[in-house]
Amino acid sequence: VSLVVQKYGGSSVADLERIRHVASRVRRYFLEGHRLVVVVSAMGKTTDTLLAMARELHPFPPEREVDTLLATGEQVSIALLSIALFAQGVPSISLTGGQAGIITTDVHTKARILRVEVERIFHHLNEGKVVIVAGFQGVTEDGDITTLGRGGSDTTACALAAALRADVCEIYTDVAGVFTADPRVVPEARKIPRISYDEMSEMASLGAKVLQLRAVDFSRLYRVRVHVRSTFLEEEGTWVEEVENMEEAKVRAITHSLEVVKVVLLGVPDEPGVAALVLRTLADSSVFLDMIIQSEGREGKKDIAFVIPREDEGKVRRALEDLRKILPLEGVKFDEDVGKVSVVGAGVANDPRIAFRMFDTLARCGVNIDMISTSNLRISCLIPKNRVEESVQALHRTFISDSEVILREGS
Ligand code: ASP
Ligand code: MG
Repeated sequence: VSLVVQKYGGSSVADLERIRHVASRVRRYFLEGHRLVVVVSAMGKTTDTLLAMARELHPFPPEREVDTLLATGEQVSIALLSIALFAQGVPSISLTGGQAGIITTDVHTKARILRVEVERIFHHLNEGKVVIVAGFQGVTEDGDITTLGRGGSDTTACALAAALRADVCEIYTDVAGVFTADPRVVPEARKIPRISYDEMSEMASLGAKVLQLRAVDFSRLYRVRVHVRSTFLEEEGTWVEEVENMEEAKVRAITHSLEVVKVVLLGVPDEPGVAALVLRTLADSSVFLDMIIQSEGREGKKDIAFVIPREDEGKVRRALEDLRKILPLEGVKFDEDVGKVSVVGAGVANDPRIAFRMFDTLARCGVNIDMISTSNLRISCLIPKNRVEESVQALHRTFISDSEVILREGS
């Protein structure tokens, strides 16, 4: 017998009919003799709706209360799925994050899992039950409800798979796997059969939403094999695992994000320690910064620009207000009319031809590159928001669709 963790996303449990469908899928695995832990997200757009209600009462609602509110979404799903399984004759029990032993930090709305106390889950598995766990939530040592950041059910599933030493963690979603680009933007995008943890991690941090970044990092750390696949299809999806013998540098996917904001600090004093001070202020509010650029100095001043996720804008604005009390700045600018396009693949930044072809493709589209950043696994460009779609399409042609044709002709 194997131990399988399955996670069903919000669209897979959006209504009762889909919950019944998930229940019958779970039932099939159960009858095959697998031990099953099933993680579910809130139904459909529930989390968005709850969040909008909170923000209608106050633009920056207290984060502890936001967590208490949002966690209700997953609680509805676990109970309904357990009832649906009962209706199909499958013994099951639903557990909230806290009941499942998921202990987190107290950083509300972005808590990190400290440990999973697995005894209770094993106890119910040993009773022969399917264990259904609310995704996206946990409790602090003091018993306060926390959530793990948007898309956090993926992290719940991967953390449970690691803690329970599961044979596989299946992530069920409404797409067939991980694609070479967002199929809504690039219709000819293809499913990637296998991808390394590193590449998947990079894609997740650059805006691919199939798998939450921290879920990937968890699975890499604990070597959990992850299978991203569709709830509505039988075919295999994408395996995220250790990929050995990666061939030479190759672009695996084109990833983009419209949910970024460029921040410019104008007239920052040009003295040692200032950049450190700026970054420490932002690090304290745990914001993911990308593309940090410091301009050439003038008259003892310089500008510092960087890119942040849009969801962190409120936080960054407040952090910068605090910063301005201790550091004189001429001004702060937020630019939301930007988007990020990236080419991702092991070793891409080590091969200058790839950077050249990327910039050349954008130039041929007449797209102006505002900022650039690279890592071993990707090259990213910040460009005007309204040019992102066509740029992703053009880059996909350059690196993926057309290069396949060359391969086929050459063989
Ligand atoms: N329901 C949460 C969200 O919408 C968590 C998740 O779906 O993974 O972000
Ligand atoms: Mg998700």
